[in-house]
Amino acid sequence: MKPLGKIASEISPSATLAVDNLAKSMTAQGIDVAGFGAGEPDFNTPDNIKLAAIEAVINNETHYTPAAGTMRLRTAVCRRLKEDIGADYEPSQIIISSGAKHCLYLAMSALLDPGDEVLLPGPYWVSYYEQIRMCHGVPVVVGSTQEEGWRVSPEKLEAAITDKTKCLILNNPCNPTGMMYTRPELEKIADICVRHDLYVISDEIYSCLVYGDAEFCSMVSLGEEIKKRTLLVNGVSKAYAMTGWRIGYIAANAEVAKVISRYMSHSIGNASNIAQAAAAEALEGPQDSVAAMKSMFAARREYILKRIAAIEGLNCHEPEGAFYVFINVTGVLGKKCGGKVLATSADFCEELLKKGLVAVVSGESFGAPGYVRWSYAASMEKIKKGLDRLEEFLATLE
Ligand code: PMP
Ligand code: GLU
Repeated sequence: MKPLGKIASEISPSATLAVDNLAKSMTAQGIDVAGFGAGEPDFNTPDNIKLAAIEAVINNETHYTPAAGTMRLRTAVCRRLKEDIGADYEPSQIIISSGAKHCLYLAMSALLDPGDEVLLPGPYWVSYYEQIRMCHGVPVVVGSTQEEGWRVSPEKLEAAITDKTKCLILNNPCNPTGMMYTRPELEKIADICVRHDLYVISDEIYSCLVYGDAEFCSMVSLGEEIKKRTLLVNGVSKAYAMTGWRIGYIAANAEVAKVISRYMSHSIGNASNIAQAAAAEALEGPQDSVAAMKSMFAARREYILKRIAAIEGLNCHEPEGAFYVFINVTGVLGKKCGGKVLATSADFCEELLKKGLVAVVSGESFGAPGYVRWSYAASMEKIKKGLDRLEEFLATLE
């Protein structure tokens, strides 16, 4: 048989989903694994949202919708963007798709020609890298360090621009580090993008999950010039505990939105009508559940940071947002676990899972060896158990 497509054959599976699946399959075999792999809220979807979906079914909202999404949901997105970040959008500028992940893929499909370069600040969320390649683009990783607070330096970013650079992908707050840019930092980045005529795909999926004194600033709130070249991506998965409903959105200039809506019309057609009704209720209805979940994430963050700080050999940057801690494990690399040397963070994660029964994702998958990502989107009880096991595991290393 002829070989499969070259690009498709080279795409690696999502490491975050792989770790999560592994932990779930171990649990199904009766093994008591504490899984912190996938960043997925452990809360159930709030009742008002679930009831809206049931009503949608009863009211026969079970047919196709416009490719870009229902007018009700696109209008609800516009209202929320106005209320949350003060940005003005028309429903014609909004595209609804099946999850923010697919929205990112649509955004890259709309922007990229073969060989176009995409600036990707590192550490980066696993799917960006492969999606750029799936859209025939070339990822150009611009790394940052823990000492830099995981912030990409504007100078390094500018130095990586060539005549092939088409866009920048910015994830703020960031998965996996939890870092969040301040307004002045974002202004510098926006200025570079405007001067070099670059598009920005601004993934703001964690915009609601910001802690302490940190204040979220959206890329599109920095003026008309940057707004018109930004494809803002957000969704309901994280803020409303709706990961399984698969609803995300893109807000963009009308021309970009039109192109993306054509892609939608020929690819998935439209996102689930029922899930769109649920998402509309999420965005239009009472917002108190968002605040309640956020305060629980905040308490877990406090707890995990305190415990990590007390463990010899480990440390992390204090995350301002999202629900991850990105732990530096270089202090324990080189030690032995049952005779096997833990040479890399991937070895560390493998042994921690096998011997410690704790699942976390190794930094290699995010372009940052030496680190592990621990999601605290899990109950406090589970987090405590996981950290106890981590300490026990570390105590066995020689
Ligand atoms: N962007 C980032 C940074 C994420 O962590 C996630 C979570 N999977 C997504 C996008 C996609 O979210 P979803 O497809 O569930 O809306
Ligand atoms: N965003 C989550 C994560 O990074 C969910 C899993 C995924 O879609 O990759 O773990």
